[in-house]
Amino acid sequence: MVSTATKRASLHTLGCRLNQSETLLIQQRLKDEGYEIVPFGERADLGIINTCTVTNLADSKCRQTIRQFVRKNPGAYTAVVGCYSQMGAKEIAEIGGVDLIIGNQEKMSVVDFIGQEKNEKPVIIRDRISPEDFSIQFAGDAPFNQRANLKIQDGCSFICSFCIIPFARGPSRSRDYANLIDEAKAKASQGIREIVVTGVNIGTYQTGDADLLRVLEGLNLVEGIDRIRISSIEPTTIPTELFGMMNDPDHALLPFFHIPLQAGSNKVLGEMRRKYTISEYLEFLHLARESVDGAYIGSDIMVGFPGESEEEFQETCRVFLENPFNFCHVFSFSERKGTLAAKRADQVPIEERQRRSAHLRRLSAKKRYDFYEAHLGKTMRVLFENPKLDCWPSYTDNYIRVVAPRDAMNGADLANRCAEVRLDRLSADFVEGEIVQMID
Ligand code: SF4
Repeated sequence: MVSTATKRASLHTLGCRLNQSETLLIQQRLKDEGYEIVPFGERADLGIINTCTVTNLADSKCRQTIRQFVRKNPGAYTAVVGCYSQMGAKEIAEIGGVDLIIGNQEKMSVVDFIGQEKNEKPVIIRDRISPEDFSIQFAGDAPFNQRANLKIQDGCSFICSFCIIPFARGPSRSRDYANLIDEAKAKASQGIREIVVTGVNIGTYQTGDADLLRVLEGLNLVEGIDRIRISSIEPTTIPTELFGMMNDPDHALLPFFHIPLQAGSNKVLGEMRRKYTISEYLEFLHLARESVDGAYIGSDIMVGFPGESEEEFQETCRVFLENPFNFCHVFSFSERKGTLAAKRADQVPIEERQRRSAHLRRLSAKKRYDFYEAHLGKTMRVLFENPKLDCWPSYTDNYIRVVAPRDAMNGADLANRCAEVRLDRLSADFVEGEIVQMID
């Protein structure tokens, strides 16, 4: 490895929450090796770009980012890791100035492969992704944030027809239970109070006799972790025991669900190769709504899937409007080379995808507004984040964005503290709250 006496390293993430958490771990490792971390865009001696390949557009954004880095730092050692490295190593190798290309199997060890000098041709390390369970080496201090992602799982074995992830990240596999609990303890000892349980398909977590429920029970026992949030979870994989945990005042699991629906028509769901019918999905949704009072329920919906007719799109809108969702992330279908859906001849025109997307986004904004409005006047617990110029931002347990004035509590430092806040006034994206009392 290079002598790191005055070496400056710069990292950039494209894509999902999982990539972000992996980049942070790589960054910690670099710090431990003596690198100074500088923002992406500043001059650096080493660049690591963690890539995404979820659509053709994502690939093109990755190439653009790599080119920008190389242009700005012609002498820097340039490493490209992650999903696009796994799937498109040859394309990346054609970009001049790249030294190292590492797929998903070895990406967490990228620091071990960084060379002394720039290479004439990039070294490509792209092993078959092992189906075995895994551990993650973690060390050092993460940049402090009140909320931290904790990766418990990787890969996916579901093979939806629009998705390249099962090929880019390999089959579903789980992180060693003791290893993930140790990382949670390390995070808690840094003062982190909220853990977001993260992975590609976390409901399939299983190693030995440990499943997702065991992970949540284990995290609940970690001293200092006051809140546990589950990130996106596939509809057919959610144990109903979660409801009891969410309702238990002594359990840190928050009343929050993010359950991808993708489409509201059985025909489209079938062609997407999703694993449920609309009535199965809705049965669970209503059960969750009835079982956990006040829970936030979000979803992902894809519009413009090949062959999606106007009627099918309207059916999706109806399902979303008439059922107890509070919000949805809307994705326009975007072709990904190598998937079944990208090969279809009946692609929906781009402008039509955009129109459908804009329409559904408006419905979603209204749903979220209604959810916020229904909570006005209530007093709820929040965890304050780092301050913005004029306010203290926070989330309630059920994911309502609440801000308190910067001069609240006589200008005391509220970061990383919990409070009871009365939800007073509604704005488009958040609620203004008044602190009733600090809790701790
Ligand atoms: S569940 Fe489907 S959409 Fe999600 S990662 Fe697996 S294949 Fe992709």
